[in-house]
Amino acid sequence: MHTRRDMVRLGAAALLGGLLGPVLVGEAPAEARRTGYPQPRRWGTAMPGIVTAFPARGRQIALTFDACAGGYDRALIAVLRRHRIPAVLFLNAHWIDAHPRETRALARDPLFTIGNHGTRHVPLSVTGRSAYGIAGTASPAGAATEVSRNHTKIARLTGRAPRWFRTGTAHYDDVAVRIVAEHGETPVGFTVNADAGGTESVAGVEAKLRAARPGSIVLAHMNRPGSGTAAALAVILPRMRAAGWEFVSLDRVVGDRGPIPELGSSDG
Ligand SMILES: [Zn+2]
Repeated sequence: MHTRRDMVRLGAAALLGGLLGPVLVGEAPAEARRTGYPQPRRWGTAMPGIVTAFPARGRQIALTFDACAGGYDRALIAVLRRHRIPAVLFLNAHWIDAHPRETRALARDPLFTIGNHGTRHVPLSVTGRSAYGIAGTASPAGAATEVSRNHTKIARLTGRAPRWFRTGTAHYDDVAVRIVAEHGETPVGFTVNADAGGTESVAGVEAKLRAARPGSIVLAHMNRPGSGTAAALAVILPRMRAAGWEFVSLDRVVGDRGPIPELGSSDG
């Protein structure tokens, strides 16, 4: 005999089957069927397979900076160097093309690890989903290219293949997360979004960083020279260190992630 809960579930399954079945058959991208990937079940900035925090020993925190298209915030990098604060720098292919010399110099600095911030700087989807009005990649092949072109570019330019990945907009579906892992990279999300794309004031960045907890991964931007980010960090980072915070590189605190969860599991 079915419980009420079972009946609700069966009803929902029937409804979804009725509504989604024909849609999935009719509109599943040919690419997805051809390459044998299942339909995605999740979408967002956090899900199994994306590192959004790390197990801290004491007041440890990890900084990450995105270089989308745009300029180079030299003042920000100077702050990190002055205080010997490590960071993962997620560089987009457009930014690298505009700053090849700077990319090589940053890669040579042991303080920094170069991460892959995508080729076209778009959400990583196998069905063309959008985030903030930016259309994502539309197939497994498209998602793979978004990862692999910049992977190769970074490896050629710096002599080291990137280990960390973050999409433009930081959005993924679960199939795309797997595709990143298949390229030997680990998707990195964030715990604290510190500068709202490099548009935050000094006080705004400070308020966001106050929300950081041990194990937080902080996201900020290094492609907006003159934004509040560098000025804020110049004040806040030494103050945090004096208060007992230790800034660590993700390289040190995130080990082998192991196999990511099976796709298509029912907890989706
Ligand atoms: Zn970006």
